[in-house]
Amino acid sequence: MSSIVLFGPPGAGKGTQAQRIMDSTGLPQVSTGDMLRAAVAAGTPTGMEAKNYMESGQLVPDEVIINLIRDRVQDTDASNGVMFDGFPRTVAQAEALAEITEVSHVIAIEVPDGRIVERICGRYTCGDCSAVFHDTFNPSNVEGVCDSCGGNDFKRRADDNANTVLSRLSAYHEQTSPLAEWYDQRGIFFRIDGDRAIDEITEDILRALK
Ligand code: AMP
Repeated sequence: MSSIVLFGPPGAGKGTQAQRIMDSTGLPQVSTGDMLRAAVAAGTPTGMEAKNYMESGQLVPDEVIINLIRDRVQDTDASNGVMFDGFPRTVAQAEALAEITEVSHVIAIEVPDGRIVERICGRYTCGDCSAVFHDTFNPSNVEGVCDSCGGNDFKRRADDNANTVLSRLSAYHEQTSPLAEWYDQRGIFFRIDGDRAIDEITEDILRALK
């Protein structure tokens, strides 16, 4: 069993690419952001603890995240590994992950800060299947209908606004980007230019995974 990590700043396209490579990798997408939003919506103790951090664009404490992941990897669909999206985000999370499952590739989708705000502010997701779209760069084929599942329940995230994006970017640079070196030293870190057409990025990711 071996897992993959999709790494990069908020708005880099991790979720979009995870959905596109799911069939090729055969691994389920595990997004800690999606798990936390579901916990907030359900009003669970984890959700109540995470809510304020998420709304202000700060990272949720490591212990909360690591517990979520420990439980998630026990599920039967995770028995051959998973594709982590938005996890790990700190060195402490990466250290915990190393105890939980083997990671074969960390795919870093690199996008300059100057492009992040426009990418995040036009983003919307399908409430049924979590497919990600963008008003300008990746609209659904039929307005109001999800390309992936045919659902019509599009949502915009509460934290996808210009103010919160700046906090999320600071959290990324201060707490998450040191992980690049941590994984690079282990020889499993692959950098992909994420400021290009979606198809080209998918091709490069699949090439890196071969
Ligand atoms: P995302 O959907 O990955 O952009 O995550 C949305 C928010 O959830 C982040 O801004 C954090 O507040 C929180 N979050 C998601 N994943 C993590 C993580 N691995 N560690 C800490 N906080 C996280």
